[in-house]
Amino acid sequence: MRAIVKTGDGQVGLQEVADLPEPGPGEVTVNVAATAICGTDRNEIAGTTGMIPRILGHEVCGVVAAMGDPLPGIPLSASIGDRVVLETDAYLCRSCHWCRTEQFNRCEKRTGIGRTAHGGLAEQITIRADAVHRLPENVTLLEGALLEPLAVAVHSVLEGPFNVGPDSTVVVIGPGTMGHLCAQVATAVGARVIVVGLDRHEERLAVARETGAFATVSTGADDVRALLSEVTDGMGADYVFECSGSVSQVVDGLSYLRKGGMLGLVAFYRDPLVVDAMTIMQNELGVVGCRGKRPSSFRTALALLRNGHLSLEPVIGSVRSMDEWDEAVDEVSRGVKVVITPGGTPLDRDLPPRLQRG
Ligand SMILES: [Zn+2]
Ligand SMILES: [Zn+2]
Repeated sequence: MRAIVKTGDGQVGLQEVADLPEPGPGEVTVNVAATAICGTDRNEIAGTTGMIPRILGHEVCGVVAAMGDPLPGIPLSASIGDRVVLETDAYLCRSCHWCRTEQFNRCEKRTGIGRTAHGGLAEQITIRADAVHRLPENVTLLEGALLEPLAVAVHSVLEGPFNVGPDSTVVVIGPGTMGHLCAQVATAVGARVIVVGLDRHEERLAVARETGAFATVSTGADDVRALLSEVTDGMGADYVFECSGSVSQVVDGLSYLRKGGMLGLVAFYRDPLVVDAMTIMQNELGVVGCRGKRPSSFRTALALLRNGHLSLEPVIGSVRSMDEWDEAVDEVSRGVKVVITPGGTPLDRDLPPRLQRG
């Protein structure tokens, strides 16, 4: 089969690899229809960490092609022919505290598809039988490729110590894919969401407004604080979700909070964070890390989609084949959300005109 394979530092490309064997006990094989790529995939290109050689791709959606024999204790959550999305845990110890309480993102021994196990930028992938979730009828395979980042947004906004709901005012910093999805999840549970970006993000801020954000701001931190003051009677935001990866935005984000407010760190950060500890102490602020997702995050994400609370298609910026890998990576570095169609299964609906090329 054809796959996008990393063979060494900086070396990633389309290759012919061996076809997958029949799935073993407790496994399923999926014909991949759509795999979205993100900044993580782009970062994976450089460096020698993770499994090498390996097939990249961790945001995967497709159709179940084959199932191995059932294993005791591992529920089969789909049948052959079902359209499914995949969790990303390839191996779990299933015996640690975190595994026993379904907090798989915290298992020390877990391996993840696309990084420490083969991923879904290929015609097929084999994974744990309990790692697939059936897609609701009203969600396309193309949109299904965004379920993994959507599950991360659900985990960040709804499964941490925050209490986001109809009375909340929420600021989301960074109108990339994670920012859009966090904003939509907070909006879906009734919060008033302000999305913050830069001048050059106007197009993406327009997507945030189209998909339910209360307001967007691209003119600097002073304007964010002024708007917050106006809409919260001078109190400030209940919660801030930082999705840009910039530590200076974290510092600005803390200044948007009301007393007792909390900031979630959703992005990856290269630089150390320097903050005024007295600001955190005096205002009783909380700073919380939000990492990965759990089976519960997928279940909630799918329920929100089934009930029509989210719109994923506007978040997708481009659809490409595996032959166009280089162009796809280029688009990801420009902040575009790209979905690759590895071709094992045709998409179940024609692409919307906006996403058709040529
Ligand atoms: Zn990703
Ligand atoms: Zn474990």
